[in-house]
Amino acid sequence: MTEPAAIGDGEVLIVVDVQNDFCPSGALAVPRGDEVVPAVNHLAKKFRHVVLTQDWHPRGHLSFASTHPGKRPYETIAAPYGPQVLWPDHCVQETPGAALHGALHIPHAALVVRKGIDRTIDSYSAFYENDRMTPTGLVGYLRERGVARVYLAGLAFDFCVRYSAEDACREGFGVFIVEDACRGIDVDSSIAATRKSLAALGIPCVPMP
Ligand SMILES: [Zn+2]
Repeated sequence: MTEPAAIGDGEVLIVVDVQNDFCPSGALAVPRGDEVVPAVNHLAKKFRHVVLTQDWHPRGHLSFASTHPGKRPYETIAAPYGPQVLWPDHCVQETPGAALHGALHIPHAALVVRKGIDRTIDSYSAFYENDRMTPTGLVGYLRERGVARVYLAGLAFDFCVRYSAEDACREGFGVFIVEDACRGIDVDSSIAATRKSLAALGIPCVPMP
């Protein structure tokens, strides 16, 4: 397990999907999801490098239950790239639900990675789409900026934060999840599955640095 280092030029904070649709009254609300906003704002002040991610789907996206006649949200289908959970329509490009939360205040964030843009494939991770092969380009960006350690916060702990953390680990970055600045959605015990998987990979959940 990598130990947290002092935060400097080698560290990045990735703020995952802090968007209206993932907050209470949104289309795919994460319980108490809006509570991450002040935590993330506070956390981001400690980092020179901050990247935001934004779920950003075209209408009729493969991950929407409404795209598949007879299917309901939270069922799983066999997509060409593997199992895919179906969700309510959410984060449709250029809708208010897809916008970053209005109280998110991180003016020094240098990059926003939009993901899930291809209608035929979902993307939980900030690094790879759900085929686990198609890159978003974020690995290259972080390497060029000299980043060695990745801190993650945001929504949802057990999906987009989890898969982003696991991909960062596979790419050789030191990875830390700031759990106080995350909230989970918990579909079919996905929070417990996430804890088990993170532990197996040696990815620690750390307190606010
Ligand atoms: Zn999505």
